[in-house]
This record gives sequence, C-alpha cells and structure tokens, in this order.
Amino acid sequence: MDKVIIVRYCEIHLKGNNRGFFERIFVENMERALKGIKHEIRKQSGRYVIEGFESEQASYITDKVKNVFGVHTLSAAYKVSTSLDNIFEAVIKLAPVSGTFKIDTHRADKTFNMNSMQINAEIGGRLLEYNNNLRVDVHSPQAVIGIDLRENGTSLVFGNLINGVGGMPVGTAGKGMLLISGGIDSPVAGYMMAKRGMRIECIHFHSYPYTNMQAKEKVEELASVLAKYSCGTVLNVVKVTHIQEEIHKKCNGDFMVTILRRFMFRIAERLAKKCGSQCLITGESLGQVASQTIEGMTSSGSVVSKLPILRPLCGFDKNEIIERSRAMGAYEISIKPYEDCCTVFLPRHPVIHPKMRDVLEEEAKLDIEALISEALNSLEVIKI
Ligand code: ATP
Ligand code: MG
Repeated sequence: MDKVIIVRYCEIHLKGNNRGFFERIFVENMERALKGIKHEIRKQSGRYVIEGFESEQASYITDKVKNVFGVHTLSAAYKVSTSLDNIFEAVIKLAPVSGTFKIDTHRADKTFNMNSMQINAEIGGRLLEYNNNLRVDVHSPQAVIGIDLRENGTSLVFGNLINGVGGMPVGTAGKGMLLISGGIDSPVAGYMMAKRGMRIECIHFHSYPYTNMQAKEKVEELASVLAKYSCGTVLNVVKVTHIQEEIHKKCNGDFMVTILRRFMFRIAERLAKKCGSQCLITGESLGQVASQTIEGMTSSGSVVSKLPILRPLCGFDKNEIIERSRAMGAYEISIKPYEDCCTVFLPRHPVIHPKMRDVLEEEAKLDIEALISEALNSLEVIKI
C-alpha cells in the first residue's frame, strides 16, 4: 500500500484550447515547490496524483502543494491493488476514531464484480463492525472516505478534502511590477495578482540614510514571503533620497508625498518596460490615507502613460486586507516598526485633494529627468 496525494485543480478546465499550456505551467509550479524532494507527479483523469515519496514526507508535501496557485483541493490517499481487503485496510488508516462517516465510491473499472453502491455498503459495513464508535450519516457526515477504482487494477482511497489556495497557475497571466513598501498592503496586492496567474517583480524605494537598513531587510523578507506563492520574484531597490531632498528644498512641503509618488510611478514604469512587466501593481485602497483619495490616485497615475496600473485592494477595508496578510504569512513582518521613505519630510498638512495645476506648478521647480536618471543609477537588483 503506497501513500499518495491527490491534487484537484481550479479553473484550468475552463480554458479550452489553452488547457495544455495551463496544465504544463501548473505541473512546473508544483515541481518547483517540491524541488529537492523525491516524488513523481502523474496526471490521472482530470487531476494529479503525487507518488513515489517517502511516506514521512507526506504532510510536508501537502503543505507545499496546497500553496501553489491553481490547487483547489488535496487529499492524503493510499494506492492499493484493487481488492476489497486491500481497500478496507486503507479505509481503516483514514477513518476517524469516532463520529459519523460515509463511504463514497467511484468505479471507473466496470469489470469489478460489485457496483459502487454495493462497495459502499460492503466497506461501510466492515468499518462499523471494526469500530463501534462510528456511525453512518450519508447526508452530513463528519468524515467522507472516497474510494476510486481505476481501470488499471489499482484503487485510490482518500480522506477528507484539504483546501488549496485556489487561483490560476503563476506564469499564465503575464508579468507585473509591484510597488512594494514595508507595509501591510502592498505584499497582499502582489499575492492577489499572483493568485490570478501573474508573475511578479518588485520595486522598492528607500531613503537611506533617513530610512535605515533594517527597513530594506524587512522588504526583502516580505518579498521572500510573496516569492513562496509567486514562484520567486526579483526585488529592485531604488534610492530616492535626493529626490526627497530636492522636493523638500524647492517645493511647497505639503506636496511632498504627492510629488514623491509621481516620481515612484515614473521610475517604476521605466523599469517595468525594461524588465518586460506589463503593468504596475500597488497596494492602494481608496480613501485609506490622505494620498489615496481619487484625486491623489489621479495625480500619481497620470504620469504613467504606457502601462495599466492595477490596484487589487482598491475596494477593500483595512481589516479585510489584514486578514489576507495574516493568511499569506506576511502580517508579523509588515508590522515591524521600521520607517518607510514616505514618512521622511512628512508634511504636517499633506494635500488630500491635489489639483493637477498646482502639482505641475510645484514639479516644474525640479529637474525631473535628471533626478529619475540619478535614482535609476542607484538600482540594486536582488533575486529572491
Ligand atoms: P502599504 O501598506 O503597502 O505600505 P500604505 O497603506 O502604507 O500601503 P501608502 O504608504 O500610501 O499606503 O502607499 C500606497 C502604495 O504605494 C503602497 O501600497 C505601495 O504599492 C506604494 N508604495 C508606498 N511606499 C513605497 C515604497 N517605499 N516603495 C515602493 N512602493 C511604495
Ligand atoms: Mg506604506
């Protein structure tokens, strides 16, 4: 009797002619998650079976694979050569010690001399005899034990379903450049686009020495958490210290954040074009802070002319974002107390509803191109 893991996938079945492409990438992503662990992944009638691993690795493999986007559910399972005795032996291993259960048989092997209802009754009856703390409940059982008789003389016996993260395989929906800060929102924004199949590159802006090195390390940590879901990522780090000093020196201080944001978006777009990213992604949420009013987003977004800006959190409340941040394992890192560059030279009264005319007038006091080039020259690329 071999321990195996059954993996069922999400929306890939909707993809018609592209299905092969989606499935190939899905398998590659599972393989990447299991790198270094002995195993084989086989496709079997609309799902995958992972086998050939050391049995003590089963829960480790389950944990890895359930976080691969595209996975709908998984089950710990046993593969046996088809016979009632072998199947029952596996059922015993998966059955709960008490409570209610149901046996659910699917028989692809039509040559087997019992139909699925008969197998349910036979195996269910044996289990009741074996453990009299169990009861049958076919309507809402606490445990469902599945039996799948394959045509090749083997059967899969599996326990309750474990939920995967859902979504689409990363690598099936292009690539985006995530503006990542050290906060709670942007890693979640990256997670959500990766979940729809997008590969993610990151760009982070820092103001060393006004912000410290721990702030940068924190962003590296956040990018590493994101990378677990996005099949790796690249973190581009750009220094905007001089840009902030120039704004502080030459412009009305109340426009600090507005103008800095516009620089960030310009630099991000240029780098995105260079790296083959097809959009920018931010963690903005409408009305969350002064710079995320619709006027603020219009002002920062209007400097980006060639790429769309995706704001997957735009309609979320902060507590919904925090819930997602916790679920992806980023929250404890995000709340570490290091300063972001946006807090440097923070104005007492930042403009909340910036008018384009005023923004352009303030910005005209700066040599925009020279400052962008200088910032891009500071680029440090970290592969994660
Ligand atoms: P977050 O939690 O992502 O930091 P926030 O609520 O603090 O978001 P802001 O500081 O207004 O909001 O930032 C809005 C968005 O701008 C962020 O979600 C991120 O996409 C981008 N951003 C802000 N600061 C930086 C930075 N230092 N480097 C890169 N992107 C940034
Ligand atoms: Mg922030």
